[in-house]
Amino acid sequence: MSQDFARNVRDTKTKLAFSEAALQGVLPSALSNRAKDAQGNYLFGLDYPEYDAIMNNVQVEATRKEFWTAFQQRGGQENLGLLKEAVTLRLELAQLMGDTSFADWTIKRRMAGKAVAVTRFLEEVQGKVEALERKELDELRVEKVASTGDKDAVLKRWDVSFYQQRLKKLRYSVDQNEVRGQFPTDPTIAWMMQVTSTLYGVQFKENKTLPVWQSDVRGYDVFDTAGGKYLSSFYLDLFPRDGKYKHAAAFPVRGVSMVAGRTPVSVLVTNFNREGFDQRELETLFHEFGHIMHGVLSKTRYVLNAGTGVKRDFVEAPSQMYEEWSRRPEALALFAQVCPTCKPIDPKLIERMNASRAFGKGLQYARQRLYAAWDMALHTPTLVDPMQTWAELEGKTPLGFEPGTMVPANFGHIMGGYQAGYYGYMWSEVLALDMRAAFGTNVMDTKMGARYRTLILERGGEHAPSALVEDFLQRKPSSEAFFREISGH
Ligand SMILES: [Zn+2]
Repeated sequence: MSQDFARNVRDTKTKLAFSEAALQGVLPSALSNRAKDAQGNYLFGLDYPEYDAIMNNVQVEATRKEFWTAFQQRGGQENLGLLKEAVTLRLELAQLMGDTSFADWTIKRRMAGKAVAVTRFLEEVQGKVEALERKELDELRVEKVASTGDKDAVLKRWDVSFYQQRLKKLRYSVDQNEVRGQFPTDPTIAWMMQVTSTLYGVQFKENKTLPVWQSDVRGYDVFDTAGGKYLSSFYLDLFPRDGKYKHAAAFPVRGVSMVAGRTPVSVLVTNFNREGFDQRELETLFHEFGHIMHGVLSKTRYVLNAGTGVKRDFVEAPSQMYEEWSRRPEALALFAQVCPTCKPIDPKLIERMNASRAFGKGLQYARQRLYAAWDMALHTPTLVDPMQTWAELEGKTPLGFEPGTMVPANFGHIMGGYQAGYYGYMWSEVLALDMRAAFGTNVMDTKMGARYRTLILERGGEHAPSALVEDFLQRKPSSEAFFREISGH
């Protein structure tokens, strides 16, 4: 059922046609080479680069509304049916196993331990972000009023990305197209590998003899810098194509087993723009590569504990932590080494990018809280309808629920792996930010990098996450850094 659900999202054939006038504000690069219909309208599918091209740039509200609505309908009724059936079966399974709810049955084997601990955590998050979310929405609304000249303008969901980008441009002079020009694809990949190999004491070598499933895909081998021993391999599958998985993810294809002499292989799958990286894509690249390193640097005795085979509410911590390396000056200083001919990294742009990150935290974490609360609401002792529950919960948020949209039909996490576990993103971020703080002001501290490699990455799920983190930090973990980050101060 999970496979069918994913396929229904992946195989969405919807193409929307827009006239040039309807696309006012779109970048010329998004239109060059784009297919047109018989009337000369431009055709847009529902991949992320197309989503960004329209939702971040197009000034015509009707166009954003039409595209956004179609995007929210991916998966359709068929997926709503599949999700409902899954939720029903999960409750039955949990009760056959003697628990009252699927959440309890699942979470007792996680760090959180009990569903009620998760609910309490989510309430705490809500308390910290609520005011910031309202403040940010208000700033976006003011921006909409100013730019449309309509003093009664109401902010809608399809306005959020657009006015957020606009505000970032105005307030912090961050233009994502300028960022893309600063981070061309190949040099940026090379830079990320340089940062990673320096930090962890490993070498990456492209291996053209590794068989690939598509001509864009690149294979790499990983070697230990000290001694040159072969450790593992990974693949990068970076760009969108028809029928491909639509999100960004890291797949551990083969886990390590020291006892069996088995070396790991992981695959990074993303849907990046071919013209270089914007700020969000850069963060995603490092995030997913953080998962890849967890997989391929792992040295556990048994495959069951290999790399990302950790408790689900810890698995995001190494990847979330690694996002920071995409924006720190110490890491960016290495860019010129891998690409002497590239435009030098403009420290002012980086400062502005980092300042602009502060805006939108309230929106971002309020949304994460909503997804997690909805996920928990689906897996209580009482059977509920996923779509109806979503409409109720989203209806209570400041922007409300838009009739006709069906987020549950395309929110793959709850169908395939993160059920009663979506909270894990924020739960593990508590540890991610705590571990990141250990690097202090120098994220390229190779002694700390080596320590992190040995105590966290290599050990996979051999010990409880809290024990691993405590070992690394040499103190009890704290949620202070996380709550500072999400509340904006
Ligand atoms: Zn992740």
